[in-house]
Amino acid sequence: MEKYILTLDQGTTSSRAILFNHEGAIVSLAQKEFKQIYPQPGWVEHDPMEIWSTQASVITEAVLQKGIDRQALAAIGITNQRETTVVWDRSTGVPVYNAIVWQDRRTSAICDGLRKDGKAELIQQKTGLIVDAYFSGTKIQWILDNVEGVRARAEKGELAFGTIDSWLIWNLTGGKLHITDVTNASRTMLYNIHTLSWDETLLELLRIPASLLPEVKSSSEVYGTTSGSLLGIQVPIAGIAGDQQSALFGHMCNRPGMVKNTYGTGCFMLMNIGSKPTLSKNNLITTIAWKIGDEVHYALEGSIFIAGAVVQWLRDELKMIESAPEIEALAAAVPDTGGVYMVPAFAGLGAPHWNQDARGSIFGITRGTNKNHFCRAALESIAYQTMDVLTAMQNDAGLQISQLRVDGGATNNNLLLQFQADILGTEVLRPNITEITAIGAAYLAGLAVGFWENIQAIEKQWQINRSFTPENSDSTARIRGWQRAVAAVKAWTDLDKS
Ligand code: ADP
Repeated sequence: MEKYILTLDQGTTSSRAILFNHEGAIVSLAQKEFKQIYPQPGWVEHDPMEIWSTQASVITEAVLQKGIDRQALAAIGITNQRETTVVWDRSTGVPVYNAIVWQDRRTSAICDGLRKDGKAELIQQKTGLIVDAYFSGTKIQWILDNVEGVRARAEKGELAFGTIDSWLIWNLTGGKLHITDVTNASRTMLYNIHTLSWDETLLELLRIPASLLPEVKSSSEVYGTTSGSLLGIQVPIAGIAGDQQSALFGHMCNRPGMVKNTYGTGCFMLMNIGSKPTLSKNNLITTIAWKIGDEVHYALEGSIFIAGAVVQWLRDELKMIESAPEIEALAAAVPDTGGVYMVPAFAGLGAPHWNQDARGSIFGITRGTNKNHFCRAALESIAYQTMDVLTAMQNDAGLQISQLRVDGGATNNNLLLQFQADILGTEVLRPNITEITAIGAAYLAGLAVGFWENIQAIEKQWQINRSFTPENSDSTARIRGWQRAVAAVKAWTDLDKS
């Protein structure tokens, strides 16, 4: 019988279940969206029960309703939205509060306090992270301090904390397993990435009882089996990785200096830096890429807030295009932007500039500027921002990259990727596999159960769909133009606020 690996891809807006065969092809896929809850400006929550119910329902849809024999499931791999925080009761399995989503900013003030108290360096040294509301630690603290009775229950050992991987596994195993993997643990701001253990000093600093925490496992091993209540059989759960790390593995960036960039609403770039957790001097994050056997790989990570979103902005707000793909032909109708630069700092500037009060600007407009130039400048802005993060990464890691592997919705745009290659002077490679994030978790699970023998056996599956080679040798002048535009945006920042 042909066997498959089932990936649970639990994302920010939807839960998905995807079945991969031995060649890495998709055999079955089911997806369900769930509710986004916005109780106050800056707050974002999910109902953990809905996360579980949508995930359970897409599992049955992708397997049973598609007529796939349950016995064909060799293992389950899990990849998940990272940092999102759930606290639940160990005896009833009922969450004490909604999941606080990674985007939620309610704990910004706690983070300001930590920085003011001079704790930023200590936290970076131990966790590789920049103090930010994004990570789970202060979200747990908020739940303990703001939901009635929860701190007392936590101190009595009655409660469990988990990121979404832990929450799914708890439910899949009927409450038998309370675990996470190193990649998810490294996003909590509580996990020491050098000693690979929960850090007592940080737990004390954030006043979080150790009894809440899951056991931390590697990213690829048989953790246990599903309880049987969902599929009627016990299936090994054998791989876990946070979504961006899973994408890095899915791209087979398994050697130091290999980089992937995911071009979605924003961009997420990760560089494999090997077995040493080098800390960033440019405000990037150092994170655990994966642990397989005893081998730990680390990564540098930088994110860009507005990437594909600038295309959505041209479509929805400026109404210059009707659909995202239309932008390519419009941009291609002019040879260049005619000196126009767009800096889409709609929500401030992220890595490596870090200016939260910066706002979007457009420079260099003349009487001859038209919508084609705007479209081209918008696409180029995605590539320039990527270049800035990559430059910071190369400086931090002391590694020069030779190629950039890409995925995400905006990589359908050939003009964008060609321009990216031109300004980086580096080859940009788009693979055939479109579900890079999901296949990463499938690989991790498949390796653990011997579905694939070793990494060499799966490396071949990463095949190039199209390679973009640098064509225009001298980009100095246009890069200089971008740098002037960014400097101008910084200069325009409201000084009273920053
Ligand atoms: P996310 O996972 O963040 O929702 P996706 O990977 O689905 O993102 O990509 C969607 C983003 O890609 C949108 O912001 C959209 O504007 C952009 N996009 C989609 N197609 C194109 C295209 N052909 N050219 C440029 N941007 C595109």
